[in-house]
Amino acid sequence: MAISSGSSSFAGKAATRVRLTEIFLSIQGEADSVGWPTVFVRLTGCPLRCSYCDTAYAFHGGEWFRIEAVLEKVASFDTRHVCVTGGEPLAQKGCLVLLQRLCDAGHQVSLETSGAMDVSTVDPRVVRVVDIKTPGSGEVARNRYENLALLRPEEQIKFVICNRADFEWACEQVRTRHLQERCMVLFSPSSGQVEAGELAQWILDARLPVRLQVQLHKYLWGDTPGR
Ligand code: SF4
Repeated sequence: MAISSGSSSFAGKAATRVRLTEIFLSIQGEADSVGWPTVFVRLTGCPLRCSYCDTAYAFHGGEWFRIEAVLEKVASFDTRHVCVTGGEPLAQKGCLVLLQRLCDAGHQVSLETSGAMDVSTVDPRVVRVVDIKTPGSGEVARNRYENLALLRPEEQIKFVICNRADFEWACEQVRTRHLQERCMVLFSPSSGQVEAGELAQWILDARLPVRLQVQLHKYLWGDTPGR
């Protein structure tokens, strides 16, 4: 990233900085804003360890940047859509300030979060895309179900499906928690574990009111960091 970093010695003392893995311009490959040119701001660190994680390179490392510097870098892409992701972005205090400032700057902002953190303090202009971790992820115990009642109709709940048992479990969650009445529900196949066509057929057979999601960016560029 060609933006200036700050001193890491006091970076954790105030929510004026965030630890970043990367910022890049790509095509949004997921969720309701799929296909839009989007600036991705990937914050470093995650307290979870999902079995299928494709961003483990964001668990460690990264560099501290002033939020002002992040805003300048985002602005340089001249792109309306911005997605703050991770890792788990909400694990950093500065994330909430970053989200607010991105909205203030006029961006259409989305947040990808694991569902394990409190989403109630996120700026209401941000569209939250909240995972519900399945048993196959290995992190089902981390789900913070109280987040679900906070979601608005334009926001999204996402399940990554690792196998047929995950699918059955996710169906049960959709039905018993009436998730489709709350907001859009996305089912995504775990790469290398479930074929997209297989999951599509399961959804059709179950007559489930959920939306199949494939990771468009992987079809375009493969599993390449920064794309
Ligand atoms: S929450 Fe996301 S970043 Fe964290 S381990 Fe799971 S898939 Fe990876």
